[in-house]
Amino acid sequence: MELSRSTSPFETPIEYLKGVGPARAEVLKKELAIFNYADLLRYFPYKYIDRTRFYKVKDINPEMPYVQVIVRLLRKEIIGEKRTKRLVVQAQDDTGPIELVWFQGVTWVDKSLRVGKAYIIFGKPGMFNGRPQMSHPEMEQYSPQAIKRQGNLTLQPAYNSTEKLKQFSLDSKGIQKLTAILIEEQARHLQENLPQYIINKYRLMDRQEAYRQMHFPDDANKLNEAQNRLKFEELFFLQYKLLKNKLHRTQKFKGNIFDKVGQYFNGFYNDRLPFPLTNAQKRVLKEMRIDTQRGVQMNRLLQGDVGSGKTVVALMSMLIAIDNGFQACMMAPTEILANQHYQTIKSLVGEGLVEVDLLTGSTPKKQRKVLHERLLNGELKILIGTHALIEDAVQYQNLGFVVIDEQHRFGVEQRSKLWRKNIVPPHVLVMTATPIPRTLAMTMYGDLDVSVIDELPAGRKPIETVHFYESQRLRMFGMMRDEIAKGRQVYVVYPLIKESEKLDLKNLEEGIEVMQREFPRPKYQTSIVHGKIKAAEKEAEMQQFIKGTAQIMVATTVIEVGVNVPNASVMIIENAERFGLSQLHQLRGRVGRGAEQSYCILMSSNKLSNDGRIRLDTMVKTNNGFEISEIDLQLRGPGNIEGTQQSGVLDLKVANLATDQQLLIQVRKCVEEIFEKDPQLINPENQILHQATQSKNAGLSWDKIS
Ligand code: ADP
Ligand code: MG
Repeated sequence: MELSRSTSPFETPIEYLKGVGPARAEVLKKELAIFNYADLLRYFPYKYIDRTRFYKVKDINPEMPYVQVIVRLLRKEIIGEKRTKRLVVQAQDDTGPIELVWFQGVTWVDKSLRVGKAYIIFGKPGMFNGRPQMSHPEMEQYSPQAIKRQGNLTLQPAYNSTEKLKQFSLDSKGIQKLTAILIEEQARHLQENLPQYIINKYRLMDRQEAYRQMHFPDDANKLNEAQNRLKFEELFFLQYKLLKNKLHRTQKFKGNIFDKVGQYFNGFYNDRLPFPLTNAQKRVLKEMRIDTQRGVQMNRLLQGDVGSGKTVVALMSMLIAIDNGFQACMMAPTEILANQHYQTIKSLVGEGLVEVDLLTGSTPKKQRKVLHERLLNGELKILIGTHALIEDAVQYQNLGFVVIDEQHRFGVEQRSKLWRKNIVPPHVLVMTATPIPRTLAMTMYGDLDVSVIDELPAGRKPIETVHFYESQRLRMFGMMRDEIAKGRQVYVVYPLIKESEKLDLKNLEEGIEVMQREFPRPKYQTSIVHGKIKAAEKEAEMQQFIKGTAQIMVATTVIEVGVNVPNASVMIIENAERFGLSQLHQLRGRVGRGAEQSYCILMSSNKLSNDGRIRLDTMVKTNNGFEISEIDLQLRGPGNIEGTQQSGVLDLKVANLATDQQLLIQVRKCVEEIFEKDPQLINPENQILHQATQSKNAGLSWDKIS
């Protein structure tokens, strides 16, 4: 039997709420996307105003938000005519005078106020002619009862409003009136959606109470509990959905079993691998060995700083796939990167072990044809390339393992295209050099398993980072000269963003001029690479630097993904305060690839914003990408971390991935336990969950209020 869903009172269109009606409904829809009761119920205050405190006139200033003061009215007077007409009231407490002003409702307010009486006034403090002033304060005649009432109404909700809404008397107060009606009428229809045992275990507030307290908190503690409850719920159903997807996938897709280690792997490991693996590399290989023997398709995210040795790990797991009769491919976001991977892997495997080839957009047609044949007959074992790898024309004999570098630039769509390249989908390893905090990974890639390489190969000298102000530029030139004298090469990077392109280009040009004056030809050569240079010329400039004929490369961020020049040991970042943390870290990763001591010099103007200072200090303090990503998350919030925008899963209403990390970890564990014990939600105690997750939103029952 199909139960009618339209019975939920929370799907009632907003115009039916008392006090709304068609006209206001229209603006609520347009301005706030509030269409029904549920939408309004979840339109939470953006802040709460504390009315427990009473201030003295001498202690208030225009920087303060809302304050309340007890004053006695001394004089009142209506000034001006028509449009300039206003009511001005002189008042004072025992610490000083304050002026109160009304521009609207002048006659009415004038009538209601009594000179000589004491009032509790509440409003935003201002300053006029150097004296304290408040316009349009809320007024209530002073009495012990009034004080007590205000004291009980400790936290007043404040709702975001717009000019348009205000024209319909829907300012914060107006919206508050509506939420009050809604809660009064409907809150009791809210159904619990978490099982009692979870509510008990995590000491959660019940759902009805939580919504009430969110809009009209009794006190700060209750508000806290309410927020915690709704955050828990929100994260719970998100994690539930992610883990459910993962379970679903492992049930639906069988995985190829790689149970042999044979001549390819051993041939590489015993005879060709030029260095001992780090413990982290070994651990990740082991994790993948386990994954690929279970008969379940692997989806693993491999995180590791630039230079931590992900490529070798990827290669070795590809060799195991080949040992088991499969082919492997590796996909990179750009041609430069694909090319680089190809060179790296070719030089690692050497001659005679395994067939490796490259396929990108610029592979000539003729070559492409041969390549397609070698892929289909199984001769070609490892194919490296760009998106070209997943074009329909590219058919594999038996693709078993796929490595994707820099996940952020690939969508889920492309991942699934890869799965269809074989009857049993290949195992997928996603590599990223942009470490993201664990909690973010849990949410963005909640349906992937995560491996981490958190250790750099031995003997690598950590990059030394210094921060110089503009006034210390001569020291920077000195360091450059010293390093170049030792035979090293130097990158100089300038910011270039669309919003300030003209100015940035001018900066860059000046920078180049200064550089060429300081480091003149013929003794020094400088390569110049930026977006305004033609492709062919750019290539020539790059080659100059790669070959070592140029000691200096001045560039915009184009080198972020790309060149690998082990002899380059100095990275200078101009206007470093303008780069984000993760970008700075990525840029720094361009050096420190050889055996020499490397340096990163952050140049900034003498004046820094608070955030700017934290970013530069962080860079100087640590080389650890995970630490840096945590701080980045704190500074910018989850929405601005690279790659999160597309993921959509971060569209959270109450929870905040930057500040609610502990809670998220708790929730994740809670959901995992449920999947371990009762994946089908059959136990009576989980009935409530079963129902909640059966809603049309397939698991995101958070969206469904009742
Ligand atoms: P990533 O892809 O993580 O940035 P790479 O795989 O490109 O790092 O490795 C960076 C450099 O370190 C390469 O030159 C690689 O050959 C080298 N390398 C990798 N693993 C080790 C190791 N265990 N010991 C020494 N050098 C290593
Ligand atoms: Mg790499």
